[in-house]
Amino acid sequence: MNKIQSIFKMTCPRCREGNLFVKPFNISKPLDMHKACQVCGQKTEPEPGYYFGAMFISYIWTGWLCLFIVGTTMIFLDWTITQSFILLISAMVLSFFWVMRISRSIYIHVDVSYDPKAKENPIEH
Ligand SMILES: [Zn+2]
Repeated sequence: MNKIQSIFKMTCPRCREGNLFVKPFNISKPLDMHKACQVCGQKTEPEPGYYFGAMFISYIWTGWLCLFIVGTTMIFLDWTITQSFILLISAMVLSFFWVMRISRSIYIHVDVSYDPKAKENPIEH
């Protein structure tokens, strides 16, 4: 699995096998993560407030997505602004938790590098 696949599958950046987030998805705890990777022991929150920077990733992602949706529907499909915003708001509501999670996944993948032998050398806590 390469880095991009690992980001989108939301797996541990060190071993690319363990899940970052607790499964199954629970709507009351949408950002519930394992304390450490269950395969290699990599901490998923290395320090308090670690994911503060992920907020900027979700902000940039959401901003470009809004421009893309409204821009393409109004310019290429000739939709009215009301129609475009109905689609936009629906897309935002449906992708809300996914965007927050993918932002965290991108953030930890930038910080923690891949170790092909992570499984044989788990981090002990
Ligand atoms: Zn791992």
